[in-house]
Amino acid sequence: MPARRDAVPVELSSEPLSRLPGAGPRVVEKLAARGLLTVQDLWLHLPLRYEDRTAITPIRFLRPGVPAQVEGRVEAVERGFRYRPVLRVAVGDESQGTLVLRFFHFRAAQVAQFAVGARIRCYGTPKPGQNGLEIVHPSYRVLGDDDEVALGEALDPVYPAVEGIGPATLRKLIGLALDRLPDEAALELLPPAMLAGLGLPSLRQALLTMHRPPRDADIAALALGTHPAQRRLAMEELLAHHLSLRRQRLAMQRHGAPPLAGKGKLANALQKSLPFKLTGAQQRVYAQIREDLKRPSPMLRLVQGDVGSGKTVVAALAAMLAVEAGKQAALAAPTELLAEQHLANLRTWLEPLGVRVAWLAGKVTGKARATVLADVASGQAQVVVGTHALMQEAVTFRDLGLAIVDEQHRFGVHQRLALRDKGAGKDRVPHQLVMTATPIPRTLAMAAYADLDVSAIDELPPGRTPVQTVALSAERRPELVERIRAACAEGRQAYWVCTLIDDSEESGKSGQGWPGAGGGTRIEAQAAQTTFETLSTALPELRVALVHGRMKAADKQATMRRFKQGEIDLLVATTVIEVGVDVPNASLMIIENAERLGLAQLHQLRGRVGRGATASSCVLMYQPPLSMMARHRLATMRQTNDGFVIAEKDLELRGPGELLGTRQTGLAAFRVADLARDAALLPQVRTLADRLLADDPVAADRVIARWVGGAARYASA
Ligand code: ADP
Ligand code: MG
Repeated sequence: MPARRDAVPVELSSEPLSRLPGAGPRVVEKLAARGLLTVQDLWLHLPLRYEDRTAITPIRFLRPGVPAQVEGRVEAVERGFRYRPVLRVAVGDESQGTLVLRFFHFRAAQVAQFAVGARIRCYGTPKPGQNGLEIVHPSYRVLGDDDEVALGEALDPVYPAVEGIGPATLRKLIGLALDRLPDEAALELLPPAMLAGLGLPSLRQALLTMHRPPRDADIAALALGTHPAQRRLAMEELLAHHLSLRRQRLAMQRHGAPPLAGKGKLANALQKSLPFKLTGAQQRVYAQIREDLKRPSPMLRLVQGDVGSGKTVVAALAAMLAVEAGKQAALAAPTELLAEQHLANLRTWLEPLGVRVAWLAGKVTGKARATVLADVASGQAQVVVGTHALMQEAVTFRDLGLAIVDEQHRFGVHQRLALRDKGAGKDRVPHQLVMTATPIPRTLAMAAYADLDVSAIDELPPGRTPVQTVALSAERRPELVERIRAACAEGRQAYWVCTLIDDSEESGKSGQGWPGAGGGTRIEAQAAQTTFETLSTALPELRVALVHGRMKAADKQATMRRFKQGEIDLLVATTVIEVGVDVPNASLMIIENAERLGLAQLHQLRGRVGRGATASSCVLMYQPPLSMMARHRLATMRQTNDGFVIAEKDLELRGPGELLGTRQTGLAAFRVADLARDAALLPQVRTLADRLLADDPVAADRVIARWVGGAARYASA
């Protein structure tokens, strides 16, 4: 069997386009600018839609908005000039119908073609005009009286445009590329029996169907992307990406890692000293981590846990296993605020056990920095907490056994890798634990994290009352001020979150502003400043304070600390408080312009309240009128507090790209697959991958080569 495969596919598919007849250097250059380099790239340049020229529709049966092909004779021609030149051609047929073809751009030669009585065949979408239906700029041809012009056998593909190449040329080139498709057996890399079982066609069949759908093809399914031919292609593409992640995982596991297999004395002591008992979910995930760490190959585990599910303590327990084994552990968080909170927690928990915790962030400079770096290098520092500063080159560990990355989606792939590379060197890497409070749906996790084991802390610590969420129009702001007054009078604390209100920052297409990002911070800070002043005046009896991203880190931190200690009643903040901040006495949160935020971010923000035993509420304030999407999002927030449910909804509403953060760089590059649409294929993809890796690893590598190629993004991830 392998002999047969070696004979053709990869080489053929990578045939350069310059070999196609008619593809001169200029055309090849234009195609390359669009990323189309090989014959295979043209196979995969799939039509956007189709035009049906397989039948002629009698003019009387035309319906507005429904594209159709008609044939008739020119009955009248009128050249006019209303604001701009216009050519109107009336065409009639045996059905006694009349259709007007209207042109705004035309050449004299064209006018001459439309002699009264000339036979015309044209295609387009009719719409109501002044005198019945008309088609603006139809595609057409003039036929001789005796011409027998056959109707199309297949639907006509309309391809995504390639700049500088006309649609007809592009269609011709793709046709030539398709003529070079090898036969079924030579092209196929997947076990045919398995495909048949799934009701999917061969790759050759799928490609031919996509480019030349037969007259009776299910156009509706093609438009929706659910046609078996599309699912077949999506399946192979998803499989390729999945396999490439699995291969990376295998490569990573070929490195050694220090087995951390102590008795767990430090970890047990930590558990005993905690003022609470671990939840069942925490215990389960900790046990999984403990098993992983005993092995001489690196742990590659992602812990997903909703906000407030208690991931930090699980990370701390894992770190104790490393320390007990005489190794170091590092914990990196994406923001200084969050890292400092981890530092405070870890110092409280670990220092009584005699474990030395060091701190490294960007603002640690000069002599202090030199000291920390020396402690990290000598092993004096057993646990090192910090921001991305931990990942810088100057930081050398004596023996890093465990690298923990919190809110991993906030880091770039490269940053995470940098920490991994700080292992004991040569062929040893540290165990890796990544944590996220932005759960992604299970199906998606399979695609995005095929290189990781995934655990979920799917249970909140006991005694939390679910946050009550309401949506309120901004007009009712005065009521909210009273509500804050009342809550604070009872000794509770509140957040007022200001989000970006600058329209230029809102990415118009997706409708997803992402406050707190880039240039938005300044405007956001201004909005918060104004709100801070207004609320301070309206609530003179309260201690009101402000935090935003433009403040000095030290000031921000001091304010957060005072809030945490109960010295501030109302904290006006920008989305800097989003990640991980923990103040159990805060029980009321108001989010301005909530309609502009994505579900994941709203959920993160809301997770700042409901951390203590008091009943908490979250008010989503919006500017009417609400778009459909925004209405949906706010309704979802009111209906559920479950991060996993919200993630599913988020996937549905805005697709996988944004959900995956930095991971999207790889996943957004799909040519055919669409994770939201094709998520149902993922379990099959996984089964198929298992089978291929076991039975035919050569085919697995070919699938990767065919779809993912040597793309650098995967080589290093
Ligand atoms: P997250 O998963 O969002 O990072 P944290 O680790 O910050 O959550 O934990 C949230 C809060 O819950 C912290 O105050 C933490 O001390 C507390 N906590 C963690 N585990 C438990 C538990 N099993 N019982 C009670 N409180 C817990
Ligand atoms: Mg956390």
